[in-house]
Amino acid sequence: MRKPIIVGNWKMNKTNTEAIDFVKGIEEVLHDGADFGIAPAYVALKDANKNAKNLIVAAQNVHFEDSGAFTGEVSVEMLKDLGIKWAIVGHSERRAMFNETDETVNLKIKQLVENDMYAIACCGETLEQFEADQTETVVRKQVTGMLEGLDSAAVKNLVIAYEPIWAIGTGKSATKETAQSTCAIVRDQVKVLYDQPTADAVRVQYGGSVKPDNIKEYMAQPDIDGALIGGASLKVDSFTEIINAVK
Ligand code: PGA
Repeated sequence: MRKPIIVGNWKMNKTNTEAIDFVKGIEEVLHDGADFGIAPAYVALKDANKNAKNLIVAAQNVHFEDSGAFTGEVSVEMLKDLGIKWAIVGHSERRAMFNETDETVNLKIKQLVENDMYAIACCGETLEQFEADQTETVVRKQVTGMLEGLDSAAVKNLVIAYEPIWAIGTGKSATKETAQSTCAIVRDQVKVLYDQPTADAVRVQYGGSVKPDNIKEYMAQPDIDGALIGGASLKVDSFTEIINAVK
């Protein structure tokens, strides 16, 4: 039985002060029906995590090297020192704007796993690829590339977020049928690469314009184990509605 996992990806939003207030507000509404988390900017991680009891506080990125001349980057050691155990890797915005590839995402997952940390690894096709019916090919290739060299035990602990790029921040969410069928493809690719028990264990999220009024229909799908949420995770009210909807 896979425990659902709902994570708010704040992107470049919210100051440290705002993050502290948010965490205090949201802690009160959490329940055992799912794992819940937020991914604030690096500068807010420490205080957000200090104020969190049950809420997962995740980084939005991490570097794959231990340390060195990588101006502007943050290492797993730095995250661990703050008590952070989770990081999102390979978000489509990072792929599009900061040159992340399946290869670097793979190195990041390995770095996290070697440090007993957890990754939320993102995949998803562009609008052009979606319209050309290439979603399955693109997603299977991304999953294969991201998981290269990882053993089954590591993959069982992984969260893979399927986020069609055309649905992110656009208000155009994928239908529940499209989201389900692609999340099933993600899981099937894990089965192709590993085995049924690994595919049964990995948690697959849908992301892309998830809101209080559509979360339930996604969560009712057999291969959707949660959501990665941008815009609707920024307000305590709307995130609370989402949290209550998955009770
Ligand atoms: P959105 O973002 O919910 O605002 O579409 C999702 C994401 O980028 O993870």
